[in-house]
Amino acid sequence: MKHTWRICLAALFLMAISLTGCNADGFTASQGQEIGQRAEVNYNGNQDKEEASLSQEQEPGNLSVTYLDVGQGNAILAESQGEFMLIDGGARETSSFVVSYLKKQGIEKLDYILISHFDEDHLAGAIGALHSFPVGTLITPDYTTDSSIYKSYREAVKEAGYQPLHPEIGDVFGLGSAEFRVISPVAYGHEDENQDSVGIILENGENKFYIGGDIGLQGEKEILGAGLDIQAEVCLMNHHGSHVSRDFFQAVNPSYAVISCGDGNSYGHPRQDTVELIESFHVPLFRTDKQGTITARSDGQRITFDQEPCNDYTPGEKNHNGQGNDNQREETEEVVSNATPDTCDFVLNIHTKKIHKPDCTYVSSIDQDNRAYFKGEKEELLEQGYTVCKGCLKE
Ligand SMILES: [Zn+2]
Ligand SMILES: [Zn+2]
Repeated sequence: MKHTWRICLAALFLMAISLTGCNADGFTASQGQEIGQRAEVNYNGNQDKEEASLSQEQEPGNLSVTYLDVGQGNAILAESQGEFMLIDGGARETSSFVVSYLKKQGIEKLDYILISHFDEDHLAGAIGALHSFPVGTLITPDYTTDSSIYKSYREAVKEAGYQPLHPEIGDVFGLGSAEFRVISPVAYGHEDENQDSVGIILENGENKFYIGGDIGLQGEKEILGAGLDIQAEVCLMNHHGSHVSRDFFQAVNPSYAVISCGDGNSYGHPRQDTVELIESFHVPLFRTDKQGTITARSDGQRITFDQEPCNDYTPGEKNHNGQGNDNQREETEEVVSNATPDTCDFVLNIHTKKIHKPDCTYVSSIDQDNRAYFKGEKEELLEQGYTVCKGCLKE
């Protein structure tokens, strides 16, 4: 197999020389082109590292980035020169869809799985993929949590014998002719684990894709504060189109925006101020809730999409009355504010399902969208799956 490949390479190389002649400058340019084409023909998902480094020295090949329609969640498949990376895997309900989608692409091995953070809407499908494919490198944030989905994840990792890698800011990994650079989290230890999401800039030649998980205003502030270069042509909006700051959006300065969220989700994603911000910059918008699965292709200089942007800048409807049609509704809507900041017994984070005393230092870092003011017995909350903050309350 390998031998055949080398003969093939040699033949194409000779062809390249005979087609382009001996002019040094002209040769360099078209040599890259020929090699790039050869790579496409020969790489069928079995590329080894030696071949990868060979292609990286040449002109960029192609990179495809597919935003899978996983309802309320994220799952992104990136492919370059036969190397594959899954970034998040969506929620439980779409886990088998994600696995069968990957199989349909002829994938036999995932060179990377990157799990931005351990929330169910990102993690569940990644567990499905861990069970279904051998994985080269598993990349995750460096925190643990006590949810049942996290336990299933740990078991899957243990079973397969993987050692997850917790990257640092600035780490760079190769993916075919592309590479990705880690830009978050700048720091750990947020009460809201969304802010601990591993975020990356995926680059192929001159094309860049920003993919930042579920970070919010806090994570954005830390990235901007660290002075990281986050400019990208395609911006996956953080946290399914929840909060974004103008400063952050301007720093990414995208030519296209993508929102991955569920149709009629109960969180009200995307937020009104977020879609208004995107519209005010006249940035074309793609949405998985309106358009299904969306694929972008980069040849290193230009990005094309498999469909037109929907440019639908209407926000999601926030719904606390059980009218939303995704099943995460239960998690967020059992408890809503029944008090005010002044009269409550506890402040809740309805996303992380943590109970805090009103004077807990963590309270100020809870996103307004995830905050609820509760008057009543702690036990009532524990029954609904809430856990107490270890900083301010004991079980
Ligand atoms: Zn999420
Ligand atoms: Zn999350």
